[in-house]
Amino acid sequence: MRMVIEQLNDSIKDSKNILLVSHINPDGDTLGSMCGLYALIKDNYKKHCEMVAVSDVPSTFAFLPNINFVKNINDLDLSREYDLVINLDVAALDRCAGAEVLFHKAKKTANIDHHETNSSYAKLNIIRPYAAATAEVLCEISEALNWHFTQESAMCLYTGIMTDTGCFRFSNTTQQTMEYSGKLLSYGINPAEVYQMCYETSSKEMVLFQSFCINKAQFVNDDKIAYTIVYKKDLEKFNNGKGEDYTDGLTEKLRAIATTEIAFVVKELNSTSSKVSMRSRTKDVAKICSQFGGGGHKLAAGAVVKGSPVQVVKQILKEIKNKNLC
Ligand code: AMP
Ligand code: MN
Ligand code: MN
Repeated sequence: MRMVIEQLNDSIKDSKNILLVSHINPDGDTLGSMCGLYALIKDNYKKHCEMVAVSDVPSTFAFLPNINFVKNINDLDLSREYDLVINLDVAALDRCAGAEVLFHKAKKTANIDHHETNSSYAKLNIIRPYAAATAEVLCEISEALNWHFTQESAMCLYTGIMTDTGCFRFSNTTQQTMEYSGKLLSYGINPAEVYQMCYETSSKEMVLFQSFCINKAQFVNDDKIAYTIVYKKDLEKFNNGKGEDYTDGLTEKLRAIATTEIAFVVKELNSTSSKVSMRSRTKDVAKICSQFGGGGHKLAAGAVVKGSPVQVVKQILKEIKNKNLC
């Protein structure tokens, strides 16, 4: 276990050009981990990395230190050969589609993640399914390599852990998670402030959109399964065509119902495919999503599936039945 961390240390030391990569539809963990590792490498190796996002960065995360240095994939030279490309929270290579070409061209590659379904697709793989967040894996690496923290790097990693644990409420929260988080707070982080920046800055439109989606939720199998569909046209009506995604946290709201054993949201992406987001308290929904080419964690998983939302709902319900999940 330690050896691969030493190899990462050597690779960072030996590299001049380093690129940090986040996953599509970036969340607090992939962005917090990327901006946090950027700060850690700057502070501990005196090196500047480049950071890339393959889709829009939600405005919620504008408070993250160094987020202004994150470039969109369209602004990068795709013919460039980086010495080291590090993927953060990217469960499968197609989750950073667009940056894949830079990954393949790189002299060295690293994959730092906590998804059980991660196939260890890089040269250096630091995958810790027991960790609540990729940011927690970075805490483990920091401890092993004696990396020095600043308020900047601590803020980024704390955000990653806080968001991926649903503010320390989900079952991935462990004693270790809390110990690392406590240490991060000691660098001058105010937990109430980070919470408010992440969760109490929702727009009125987002809250109304989520109530609209919950209002038309369907309950099947004695209410053990709860789901709702997000149509593109509905989303556009609420976000005024600004392209903002208002679905973050929606599936968790359906899971919060006492009778729910499996909750899922199917979001229409275009005329041929839909995005599935699944949550459970007890059932392994990653198994279902893997069946459709996706993956994730046992209790929180996702996939992009071919078909209209209605067709995809049918396929998911059939798969839940086939697997006798509930
Ligand atoms: P989401 O429902 O999109 O919030 O995703 C739940 C979890 O599953 C997150 O940890 C994602 O990183 C992971 N996930 C979502 N979609 C995919 C996918 N297509 N392939 C692998 N993992 C995924
Ligand atoms: Mn993520
Ligand atoms: Mn994560």
